[in-house]
Amino acid sequence: MPDNIKKTDVLIIGASASGLMCAIEAGKRGRNVIVLDHANKAGKKILMSGGGRCNFTNSDIDASNYISHNEHFCKSALSRYTQWDFIAKVIDYNIPYHERDLGKLFCDDSAKDILNMLLVECTKANVSIHLNSNIEAIIKTDEQSFLIETAEKVYRTKSLVVACGGLSIPKMCASPLGYKIAEQFSHNIFPTSAGLVPFTLQPHDKDKLEVLSGVSVETNVKNSVVEFNKENILFTHRGLSGPAILQISSYWKAGEVIHINLLPSSDVRNLLKLRQRKQPNIKLKTVLNEHLPKRLITVLFKQTLIDKPLQELSKIVIGDIANKLHDWQIKPNGTEGYRTAEVTLGGVDCNELSSKTMESKKVNGLYFIGEVVDVTGWLGGYNFQWAWSSGWCAGQVV
Ligand SMILES: Cc1cc2nc3c(=O)[nH]c(=O)nc-3n(C[C@H](O)[C@H](O)[C@H](O)COP(=O)(O)OP(=O)(O)OC[C@H]3O[C@@H](n4cnc5c(N)ncnc54)[C@H](O)[C@@H]3O)c2cc1C
Repeated sequence: MPDNIKKTDVLIIGASASGLMCAIEAGKRGRNVIVLDHANKAGKKILMSGGGRCNFTNSDIDASNYISHNEHFCKSALSRYTQWDFIAKVIDYNIPYHERDLGKLFCDDSAKDILNMLLVECTKANVSIHLNSNIEAIIKTDEQSFLIETAEKVYRTKSLVVACGGLSIPKMCASPLGYKIAEQFSHNIFPTSAGLVPFTLQPHDKDKLEVLSGVSVETNVKNSVVEFNKENILFTHRGLSGPAILQISSYWKAGEVIHINLLPSSDVRNLLKLRQRKQPNIKLKTVLNEHLPKRLITVLFKQTLIDKPLQELSKIVIGDIANKLHDWQIKPNGTEGYRTAEVTLGGVDCNELSSKTMESKKVNGLYFIGEVVDVTGWLGGYNFQWAWSSGWCAGQVV
């Protein structure tokens, strides 16, 4: 065995949300902690999150905001380290923040505030972070410890924490290492796929909708299993994006049609009938443009129809218009994939981990936390809360 082996109580792979939280907690308990990351900087995803302002948690966190093959698994961690615990930390560090729609909490200034807070906490807890570390092999030795070989060093640890995230945004240093480690130790892995990701469109829809690039509309969006209400969709030059689309994308199966209510706060049928009585000569487009962007109306309906005065519209035509606006159906061609996905669905099977400690039930001393685990949150700060909560739980015992 090489004599340049560096011994440590805890070795964490991944210096980002879940890994840093785990490191802080373990360090506070007096454990010797080393965090390895192949990136040249810690917390790259934290820095790019929430449009640079990091949606660090949500004021309303519930297990139903998470997707997993085991819907109960996340409950323990989320209740032991809650959003209020993280908010207390943010307040303690005087980080200015605000609440947006649907309970989303963002930094007022910059995501850097969250990362700096975590790094200061790491320093206080004597955590060593080794960046640019390329992991070459992991070996479980007989004496219940792990050897982790990097190009430069070999580390020996009793507790190995896998916090190296999912596959989304390879440019931001995402890699499959976490899944490979799980595989090496015979863990079941649920197939992974891109989540919280924009849709691409079928060629005929793309041609038709491309002119709407930049248009954003508040909608209700649903498929056969879930509905997201009062969130925006955004037409882009590549397809469909915006919070409502990202949310439904995590539940979408290839070939499935998405139902979009483009005017969720009005009853189009009643609205048109009422205006027909009051202003029979007003044009359909004038009325619709009061509620929806002009460009969208022009793409959805024939010019000859929207130029008509309301008095010329039959009950059936009004019904058709209402149906189209309240249940606009679109069959995406696919998603933009890991290149732009915010998260990775699937991952390490929760049933093979302790929900209290995140330790493997198969291999003593091996832990999986954060996104590599088969727990995926909705858009809105839920994914960071999972990273904080699962990292905190492992940090209490490693
Ligand atoms: C653009 C974008 C915006 C987002 N915005 C939000 C938001 O506002 N709110 C929210 O809740 N969630 C957001 N998310 C999701 C959130 O960033 C993740 O769920 C969260 O960062 C997961 O934390 P993690 O620690 O498990 O993994 P990560 O944060 O992905 O960290 C994994 C770490 O492991 C390192 N690593 C990977 N492979 C290796 C390897 N082979 N060797 C060594 N190190 C390795 C990486 O360099 C990285 O530092 C966003 C994601 C993206 C992509």
